Amino acid sequence: MPIELVIATRNKKKVEEIRRILEGLPATFYSIDDFPGCPEVEEDTDTFEGNAAKKALTVARFSGRPAIADDSGLEVYALNRAPGVFSARYAGPDSNDRKNRERLLSEMNGIEENKRGARFVCYVALAFPDGKVETFEGFVEGSLGTEPRGSSGFGYDPIFYPAGYDRTFAEMNAGEKDALSHRGMALKKLREYLSG
Ligand code: IMP
Repeated sequence: MPIELVIATRNKKKVEEIRRILEGLPATFYSIDDFPGCPEVEEDTDTFEGNAAKKALTVARFSGRPAIADDSGLEVYALNRAPGVFSARYAGPDSNDRKNRERLLSEMNGIEENKRGARFVCYVALAFPDGKVETFEGFVEGSLGTEPRGSSGFGYDPIFYPAGYDRTFAEMNAGEKDALSHRGMALKKLREYLSG
């Protein structure tokens, strides 16, 4: 019997990444849109893990099915790990990916190449309607460029160079990014857990 899983995110790019990496598992996937009235979750805990668990639990309880959520972001060492859990809202209340990147590039203005280290962090939570939660973590180290390059992916991808590569995540195809990325790493752990 395939397991039923609800992907608890409204970010279409993340849904694509999650489905791609979990492809082939004996699972039937649902989206939040299959459960009208599902409450919006405020990401108000101060950790990626807490936010991911909160999102997954809310959707698992509402839908009556196991739910997967992720919370992710970018930690920049020269900025004391900002934007961190605030990555999606870094440029303020009307943030979008472009404004967030611009703010980050301006904060990093003048910082030399060898001090531009950063990492992406991802926590994936699998929650069950009875309240049980499992979490899986993933990281990718790299550094920030000085201008955007490439057009695939989303968020900070055009300014993030994974360690050992001279292309940004936005210059890589989906398969290359999945093999290196924080979300890829966390989802592979989830995949192993589900395949049991
Ligand atoms: P949340 O997990 O939806 O709260 O938001 C995470 C934010 O971190 C996104 O809006 C992006 O700005 C950034 N982020 C997370 N993962 C990635 C990624 O794989 N590439 C680029 N940006 C990312």
